[in-house]
Formats: sequence, structure tokens, C-alpha cells
Amino acid sequence: MESAEIRRRWLSFFEERGHTVVPSASLIADDPTLLLVPAGMVPFKPYFLGETKPPAPTLTSVQKCVRTPDIEEVGKTTRHGTFFQMCGNFSFGDYFKEGAIKYAWELLTSSVADGGYGLEPEKLWITVYLDDDEAEAIWRDKIGVPAERIQRLGKKDNFWSMGVPGPCGPCSEINYDRGPEFGVEGGPAVNDERYVEIWNLVFMQYERGAGDGKEDFPILGDLPSKNIDTGLGLERLAMILQGVRNMYETDTLRVVMDKATELTGVAYGAADHSDVSLRVVADHIRTSTMLIGDGVTPGNEGRGYVLRRIMRRAIRNMRLMGATGPVVRDLIDVVIETMGQQYPELITDRKRIETVAIAEEAAFLKAIKGGTNILDTAVTETKAAGGTVLSGDKAFLLHDTWGFPIDLTLEMAAEQGLSVDETGFRRLMQEQRDRAKADAKAKKTGHADVSAYREIADGSGATEFTGYATNQGEAT
Ligand code: ATP
Ligand code: MG
Ligand code: MG
Ligand code: MG
Repeated sequence: MESAEIRRRWLSFFEERGHTVVPSASLIADDPTLLLVPAGMVPFKPYFLGETKPPAPTLTSVQKCVRTPDIEEVGKTTRHGTFFQMCGNFSFGDYFKEGAIKYAWELLTSSVADGGYGLEPEKLWITVYLDDDEAEAIWRDKIGVPAERIQRLGKKDNFWSMGVPGPCGPCSEINYDRGPEFGVEGGPAVNDERYVEIWNLVFMQYERGAGDGKEDFPILGDLPSKNIDTGLGLERLAMILQGVRNMYETDTLRVVMDKATELTGVAYGAADHSDVSLRVVADHIRTSTMLIGDGVTPGNEGRGYVLRRIMRRAIRNMRLMGATGPVVRDLIDVVIETMGQQYPELITDRKRIETVAIAEEAAFLKAIKGGTNILDTAVTETKAAGGTVLSGDKAFLLHDTWGFPIDLTLEMAAEQGLSVDETGFRRLMQEQRDRAKADAKAKKTGHADVSAYREIADGSGATEFTGYATNQGEAT
């Protein structure tokens, strides 16, 4: 089943059951605590918080999402992209646990002829939160899932809150068993690559108080109106329904990998490291296209930096596979062709998207040239002095003046037989961030602190975004 059909079926299933269809919001979050939208519920946050009345008691959407913290997983796990689409259904004081569970089961397991996705019930494993006996009983007694395929998970995976006082509640996740070729048995609690998580159901039923924001906070009581927030990864379901081993091989991403192969001559399947590069290219080029489409332009701060980092990583991986000249235009055009079916504004905006991307690529190719000279000189000096380690100062200079990501410096130094003082580099980066923070504080701009994103985007230090997206099992 093609991605477009998965999406169509999702929306019509919930529309037929009384939900109002809401189009995807922009990736640029209308929310000062977030740079980019990491989950389908974000545009509906004011409804969940009771600040605004929803247009209808039940809604459904397929939301564009970007999760920068997942960048290191891309191409390595089979199931994480920096961009993906989250299919969601939402209830504001309408149906609750039993309703959400029944809908999910019906849609996943009804036959394709009946409008469902036709998954075999025996392949589905369920997780519920530690003390959520109610959810477990619904799965076991009303749906008929055998008790041995229901597992309990703790706060990190199966309890959701926004990281601040307000609504929170347990989650229940639906996972698909891809079989022994993906590793040992034992359910999602044991092996999350074999038992891949496809759908998260969040039951917002409690109100939480302050606490340390993460796992330790008091539950103040029940919410007056209980809400449902769910999220299913479209690409993950596509991977299962299309019978491929990872999300990059699904219909909308495979074509980007094929274009990268055409441009580099490196075939998919030729070697593990080039396969990772092909997957990174497919993911990152798609993310870049979608970000530029929503109006992000490359820069050194905030969203612009996220885009720059992702685009440069894609270009660097193309170069690792042997590309020397410009490549992004050809790659982006493939994304516009495939994603343009769902997001026609990509097609009408093609010229602008290409122009932004081509300019960034030219800037990066120029930087690589300029930076390479600095690097070569530094390598010669280091070797002449009998050293084997390139100093943190030099790595920092390359980053600061030529926008060299540290992994690029590491690789280029390694090619010439040197390692790099990464600790020194990270210390200088931290000092720079501290200075920037102090400046921002002095200016009292009132803008959200984006340094956490920057660290993630740099791959330097913090791996956990301290904002909304990774709180308590992550926003759905
Ligand atoms: P995982 O544990 O696999 O990282 P998650 O628990 O972080 O997933 P949720 O926050 O529950 O994910 O998001 C809801 C759904 O969105 C997931 O069940 C999954 O299908 C999908 N999803 C989440 N992150 C990604 C990603 N990086 N790429 C593709 N799909 C994703
Ligand atoms: Mg999870
Ligand atoms: Mg989850
Ligand atoms: Mg995750």
C-alpha cells in the first residue's frame, strides 16, 4: 500500500466516525517553547490546555513532524527519520480509553477490502503503563489480545506530560512483530527493532503539579474533562505494509536513495557504511525540502541552524560516496515530485525551494574548500611538531569560521592520520554557548532558549532536548 493511500485511509476512517479533518500545520511551531513541530498534537495544544475551544470534539490529522533529537538514529535504526508524518486522532472530552483502543484495533486489523490496513492481529503487541489496569483490561477482555502479548512499561516510555504542570496521563503503544530476522523474541520491552512501535495512544486523565519536570512530579487529581491524543508514524506503517526492512526503503524515500545512487554510482546494498550514507541523504534531503517549503532558511541560529546542519550533513554524505559537484537540486526535485502529491505547495514553490537549497550548497562547498586549506596547514604543523592530535582550537576555528561540523573535521583529520582533541573542542563550544546565553540574558529578548537544539544539531554534548518533545514518553 502506497504512503498516499495509508494517509487517505487514515483520514477517511476517522472522518467516517465523526472526526473533523484538520490539515497539517506548518513545521514552524506557533509556540514559543518549540522551534519545530515534533508531534501531531502540537497545533492542538491550546485545546488540550483548555485555553481555546476546539472546532469540534473529535479531530483527525496527518501532521508533518521534525525531531532533531533523532538525528543520530537516522540510517542506523530502521525506524527513525528527522522528518516523518504523524497520523493522529484526538478527542476533547468525547471518547476516552475504550473508544481510542477500539478505533485503533479496528483500523489496523480490518481487511484492506474493508478500508483497514489488514495487519495480522497475532503480530501486534501492546504496552500499557505500569499501573494502568484499566487499559490492560480493555485490551485483554474487550479486544481479546492474549495477556502474554501485553507488557507494562515505565514512565520513560509510557507516561506523557508536557514537562510542566497541567494535563498528563498514561500511554498505551501498539507494536508490530517483524519476526526473528530482526532479533530475539520477548516483546517490545525487550527488543524495539523487532517489535517496532507504530502507534502511541495517550490517555490524558490526570493533572500534574510541579516537580523536577521529568519523572518526578505529583499527580494532583483527575482532569475534569478527559482527552485522547494519539500518533501513528505513517512511514513506520508504510515500512510494514510495503514489506521493506526500513523506513528509507518505503515509496517516498526509496526514490531519493535511487537518485543518490544515480549521482554517485554507489548502489544500495554495496556496503554497510554507504548504505547508512544513502539513508541519511534520503532522510536529510527530504527534511531540508520540507523545512525550506515551510519558510525556514539556512542560518546560524535556531531553525536556520537546524536546517543548515541537516543539509550539510546530507551533502557531506554525498561527498563521502564520491560526489564532487553540486547535487542538491537533483535530489530535492525527487522529493518535490513524491511529496508534492500530498503537499502541492512544494510544487508551486519549487523555484524558491531550489534557489535556497542551491545557495546553501554553494556556500558549503566554498566552506569545505576554505576550511580544507586551514586544515591542511594545521595538519602539516602538527606533524612537523611530532604531534598526532589536532588541537581543539583548530577544530573550533574550523567550526566557527567555516561552519565545519566536528564529524567532518574528525574524518578529514583521520584521512591524514591524525586524531582530534574533541574534549578541547567541546569545551570551547560550551564557552561560546555560555557567552551567547549570557548575552541573550543581558538583552532580555524573551525568546526561547534554543541552545539545546544547537547542541543536538552539533552532535556536541547534550543528546536530550530539554523542551517538549522528549518529555515523558515524548509528545504524541
Ligand atoms: P520510538 O520509541 O520508536 O523512538 P517514540 O515513542 O519516540 O518512538 P512517539 O513520541 O510515541 O514516538 O510518537 C508517536 C509515533 O510517531 C511513534 O509511535 C512512531 O510511529 C512515530 N515516530 C516517532 N518518532 C519517529 C521518527 N523519528 N521517525 C519516524 N516515525 C516516528
Ligand atoms: Mg517509544
Ligand atoms: Mg511512543
Ligand atoms: Mg523516540
